[in-house]
Amino acid sequence: MKKPNIVILGAGYGGIMTTVKLQKSMGVNDANITLVNKNDYHYQTTWLHENAAGTLHHDRTRIPIKDVVNMSKINFVQDTVTAIKPDEKKVKLENSELSYDILVIGLGFEAATFGIPGLIENAFTIGDINSSRLIREHIEYNFAMYHNEKEKNQARLNIVVGGGGFTGIEFVGELANRIPELCKEYDIDKSLVRIINVEGAPTVLPGFDPQLVEYAMNSLESRGVEFVTGAMLKDCKPDSIVYEKDGKQVEVPTLTTVWAAGVRANSIVEKSGIETNRGKVEVRNDMRAPGYDDIFVIGDCALIMNPENGRPYPPTAQIAIQESYTVAHNVKALAEGHELEGFEAKILGTVASLGHTDAIGVVLNDRKLFGWKATVMKKVIDNRYLLKLGGLGLLLKKGKFNIFY
Ligand code: FAD
Ligand code: NAD
Repeated sequence: MKKPNIVILGAGYGGIMTTVKLQKSMGVNDANITLVNKNDYHYQTTWLHENAAGTLHHDRTRIPIKDVVNMSKINFVQDTVTAIKPDEKKVKLENSELSYDILVIGLGFEAATFGIPGLIENAFTIGDINSSRLIREHIEYNFAMYHNEKEKNQARLNIVVGGGGFTGIEFVGELANRIPELCKEYDIDKSLVRIINVEGAPTVLPGFDPQLVEYAMNSLESRGVEFVTGAMLKDCKPDSIVYEKDGKQVEVPTLTTVWAAGVRANSIVEKSGIETNRGKVEVRNDMRAPGYDDIFVIGDCALIMNPENGRPYPPTAQIAIQESYTVAHNVKALAEGHELEGFEAKILGTVASLGHTDAIGVVLNDRKLFGWKATVMKKVIDNRYLLKLGGLGLLLKKGKFNIFY
């Protein structure tokens, strides 16, 4: 093959880790490697709920791409992908067009709104730095407004979170930490503020260890979070939401609805014409798309079945990072005409924060963790990623070392 054009779309966990690995394993004489990303920074999606609640500044979460990618080896293009044309081997960007010999699609996720009326127009989502920063600003604005109106508007102090999966639970955990601080700052009686989590299943974190779910609910309720389970959010208006529970519709006044009830793959993937299953590309064992030997798909855009239960692996950073090892290896192998290897997921566990000083988790060999031990484990996982991505320098710059905050 002539010196191939390798194009990587998206600098999320999957895309940036693939790039960093390829810049080490391939020289500038071996391939032209191009990374395309909307922003000139990578962000840790797994910290966005903290930025949204205002407990962590977004500059801690984002990492300039130039800090981890060697710009003399990689051609970085800051632009937005608008379409992928697999039969023409082209990618359309807002401002230009790229041709590729080998493509890696790592464009991540977007919120799944299931056609629920008003969500797109009126709800916030924790999707990236911009949307998370907006939630923080919006909550603060409503607290600031509260004493500036003749008629007190309770909707300004009611925060509804749709969905009690890991994102919803981690977010209400951060809010539980942040609200007392905001109340102090804006002279608001804490008992007036409501954080309401609406979950469709009979319990939050459906399918997770019941003992840990109970622990999480108790911890969050003791800090003021209200749970409404077995309740489907049905409508989102500018100043209220409606949920249905036991056949009855209940309206809750709120100016802040945060939708955290599920994700789907970036819709650019489905529109590309590549075969999809539930909007994702069900990749072959070597992480390539069906029917396209020159396209790899990684992270939340890819679907891989868990052979143990016949269900797809949930979209996680853990899997996206693991996949990057196989994708980077296989991109190089394909470029050099060597044999490709298969991907095997190794689920090391799940740890979820409940604010800065509490957490729950199940780690290796089904070991349950909660409280400070789980909090420490969560920080270890986060720090391990920083070490992998940018070495000790990045870890020292961005790592989380304080277990009390
Ligand atoms: P992403 O990380 O979503 O990155 C996609 C990249 O593509 C971004 O840089 C984006 O800017 C870029 N992009 C998107 N569209 C375009 C476009 N059109 N043009 C150019 N660039 C584009 N998983 C865990 O394993 N552990 C956790 O603790 C955890 N916590 C989470 C907490 C929250 C609040 C959320 C929302 C998710 C969490 N997840 C967690 C899930 C995890 O974050 C995702 O599975 C992971 O981010 C997927 O990685 P990715 O590489 O596919 O894409
Ligand atoms: P999810 O799909 O895991 O959870 C969404 C929740 O919303 C479900 O419990 C579902 O029953 C509920 N729901 C759906 N429609 C609803 C409706 N109309 N009304 C009320 N509730 C409704 O989505 P997520 O929490 O955004 O997580 C996305 C992915 O990211 C998952 O794979 C998750 O494992 C991963 N994640 C992991 C962590 C962690 O490991 N700490 C943290 C956050 C996210």
